[in-house]
Amino acid sequence: MALYVYKFGGTSVGSVERIKAVADKVKTAHDAGNQIVVVLSAMSGETNRLIGLAKEMQQQPTERELDVLVATGEQVTVALLSMALHAIGCAACSYTGGQVKILTDSSHTKARILHIEDEKMRSDLNQGNVVVVAGFQGVDEYGNITTLGRGGSDTTAVALAAALKADECHIYTDVDGVYTTDPRVEPKARRLDKITFEEMLEMASLGSKVLQIRSVEFAGKYNVPLRVLSSFTEGAGTLITYEESEMESALISGIAFNRDEAKLTISGVPDRPGIASKILSPIAEANIEVDMIIQNIAEDATTDFTFTVHRNDYRRAKAALELTCAELGAKKVTGDDSLVKVSIVGVGMRSHSGIANTMFKALAEEGINIKMISTSEIKISVVVEEKYLELAVRTLHAAFKLDQGNS
Ligand code: ADP
Ligand code: ASP
Ligand code: MG
Repeated sequence: MALYVYKFGGTSVGSVERIKAVADKVKTAHDAGNQIVVVLSAMSGETNRLIGLAKEMQQQPTERELDVLVATGEQVTVALLSMALHAIGCAACSYTGGQVKILTDSSHTKARILHIEDEKMRSDLNQGNVVVVAGFQGVDEYGNITTLGRGGSDTTAVALAAALKADECHIYTDVDGVYTTDPRVEPKARRLDKITFEEMLEMASLGSKVLQIRSVEFAGKYNVPLRVLSSFTEGAGTLITYEESEMESALISGIAFNRDEAKLTISGVPDRPGIASKILSPIAEANIEVDMIIQNIAEDATTDFTFTVHRNDYRRAKAALELTCAELGAKKVTGDDSLVKVSIVGVGMRSHSGIANTMFKALAEEGINIKMISTSEIKISVVVEEKYLELAVRTLHAAFKLDQGNS
């Protein structure tokens, strides 16, 4: 008898018919003698709808209240699935995160899981029930409802799988696995049979929303066998795994992108020690995350300092930087909030040179101007104008022959 955690995303539970289809799938696995824990998202569009309602009350909704509100989306789907299972003769019980209980810290809207109580789930499973748990939510030590950040149901699923030492965690979604890039942007994208945790982590953190970053971190840390599959079609999907020798031949595994980039430059800054901290401290104090940073010395002993932030933080970051500019007697602040980041990812990069050159050459041949570059052992990212996103992704996909599976 195996224990599986199955997670179904928003599209997979987007209507009554789809919830019934999920119930059939779960019943089949349960009838085959397996223990099944199901984690659900809210119906597709529901979390956005709830956030929209909140914004009609308050421009920046109080985060504690926002969590109380958005957690309702998942409460609806778990109850409905449980009912759908009862209707077809399958014993099941639904729980909110707080009922399980999934204990988190108190960082509303981006809480981290601290501990999961598994007794209730285990006793339910041992009595032959399917356990249906609301994804994306938990409870803090004071009993407040918390949520785990957008896409957080993935993390609930992996965390439950780790706590229950499940045989496998299946993430059922609207694509049949992890592709070389988002198939909505490059239809020639190819499904990968396997991808390493390390690569999947980079892909997720560089913008591939197929799995929430924290779910991959969790799976890597607790060694949870993780698979991404389609809710709608049969197939083995993509296994997220530790590095294996047979995979070493692939130079590049995938291309990730992030549409939410903005860049700010403060120029003519007096070049002296402590300047970087003076520029970035007010940004950090405003709780704005900085991604890439570039500093360039000009001939006149001043320096130009450029960094990127999430597009939503652009205006606040610019206002903070303008104050710093006046304080430091720097020349001016400029910025651009219509940028994107495109990244190539692959563990094979470690042992090969010339990859950056292939990337830059391919982009140049299409007349795509690179605004910023950042590299690490297993990825190269470039920031380009938003209008070039699709072209850049497809160009790189072709340049590294990702459609042919032999990059
Ligand atoms: P769910 O609601 O099931 O959690 P998501 O929308 O969060 O689904 O994630 C699935 C989507 O991720 C796909 O529809 C696809 O457009 C997108 N995606 C982005 N990058 C990739 C990739 N490399 N492989 C597969 N899907 C990707
Ligand atoms: N419903 C939440 C969201 O839309 C969590 C999830 O679906 O994973 O972000
Ligand atoms: Mg998701």
